[in-house]
Amino acid sequence: MTSIGIIGTGFGGIGTAAELVTHGYDDVRLWERADTVGGVWRDNTYPGAACDVPGPLYSFSFAPNGDWSRRYPAQAEILDYLGRVADRYGVTRRTRFGARVVSALWDQDAWHVGFDDGTTETVDVLISAVGQLSEPSAPDVEGWESFAGSVLHAGSWDDSVDLSGRRVAVVGTGASAVQIVPRLAEVARELVVLQRSANHILPKPDGAYPGWYRDRAQRERRPIDWVTQQFSRGLDPDSTVATVIERLASAHLRLRVRDEELRRHLTPRHQVGCKRILFSNDYYPTLTRDHVRLVPHALAEVRADAIRTADGQWHEVDAICFATGFDTQDFLHGIEVTGPGGDLHEAWSAGARAHLGIHVPGFPNLFLAYGPNTNLGGGSIITMLEAQARHIRATLDRMDHHGARRVQARAEAEQRWDDRVQHDLAHSAWASCTSWYHHPETGRITSNWPGGTHTYEAAVADVHDEEFLWT
Ligand code: NAP
Repeated sequence: MTSIGIIGTGFGGIGTAAELVTHGYDDVRLWERADTVGGVWRDNTYPGAACDVPGPLYSFSFAPNGDWSRRYPAQAEILDYLGRVADRYGVTRRTRFGARVVSALWDQDAWHVGFDDGTTETVDVLISAVGQLSEPSAPDVEGWESFAGSVLHAGSWDDSVDLSGRRVAVVGTGASAVQIVPRLAEVARELVVLQRSANHILPKPDGAYPGWYRDRAQRERRPIDWVTQQFSRGLDPDSTVATVIERLASAHLRLRVRDEELRRHLTPRHQVGCKRILFSNDYYPTLTRDHVRLVPHALAEVRADAIRTADGQWHEVDAICFATGFDTQDFLHGIEVTGPGGDLHEAWSAGARAHLGIHVPGFPNLFLAYGPNTNLGGGSIITMLEAQARHIRATLDRMDHHGARRVQARAEAEQRWDDRVQHDLAHSAWASCTSWYHHPETGRITSNWPGGTHTYEAAVADVHDEEFLWT
């Protein structure tokens, strides 16, 4: 019996484990650094945290949820759903909690996995499901350690900090910020929002599901999926969809923000789709409130009681909330991975890459969920994760079929895949501005998949024997 170890219990780890267990792979264990399952939905507890993909699509196809209270569910509901799926598929009982993986060494046909407490475990197959958005990052500006007030980060929110009646700064204006700002404005005495780049923001067709409708809401899955496939076409700069999205975002801004100067600051300077297109009904109205101020400049410096923005102005604040995203380029952050191909992080020094986003040549029996070039600009990442889980399971089936103990992608197959992906990315909207999708030094787009979820599903649906070495 093949023993399988999975690092992480977010959507990726839970979905992959469920796929394997339901197809007869019983020796599956998971390692989770925290003490509950949930990944980003456990960690991102900031006020207003919710999903910007509707719940009927942002859920596993094999575990439809008849309980979403609204179209765009909040973080707590998603976490609750994930916990229930993990229990139902035996994932929770297979998980060792408080187990932070720090190393993985391939030796004598097995992965020897090391933990921060000095223990090790050995498995035949190692699956990383640590995600791309698990390590919060903040700008390394001068003096920030001297700040005397509270410092929070959207990606690791401290619920015990009370921001009521305080002067608060939010740094960043991405997907997390547009959710957090309206909620903080309800409690803060003053709120200053630091914007380095304005984004395209569309209205969010959200709403509560009445009780009688909840178990029927799942019928929205297919139409929503169709819309997201069209949406992902908007990432092709020449598409009609891109023009439609841009016009909608522009009309939304005109409608919600009357003040011309504020509107000018909120007008994006980059091509639509280059940075994530955002959805919010209350972000723009919040910025027009009297005690809320948009400062269209980056954070530059911090002192004990104030922050300085790049225009030289100081702003006195009692708390700083970073909504500045994640360390997205250090895939498998904090885990030293050593295989016949050497050190994985060295192999990826010019930017992470993997065949189908799943297999790395030179690293046998290592599979990645949500690996390089599998993030989306529109659509549900759950669809991608399920496609990867099915592919990983099918690869293990083929291993069994070949009587092999090791499988790894052939370097030529990976190169062909990478050439195709990078070619398509070079013609996408993402190529036209900087964002967290790019490797900071080489500029390579390592995060995103250049297409809709259906094209990815088709690309990984079959395991082509000739693309792999079976030994
Ligand atoms: P993000 O998209 O990386 O946004 C970070 C923000 O911080 C950007 O606006 C960035 O500006 C700004 N920033 C960085 N350094 C700054 C500085 N020194 N001064 C001022 N601003 C600064 O991070 P995120 O909002 O946490 O979102 C990350 C990803 O998480 C999203 O793209 C999405 O995939 C996921 N997410 C999803 C949801 C959901 O609803 N499904 C919600 C939240 C997050 P620049 O644009 O100029 O770099």
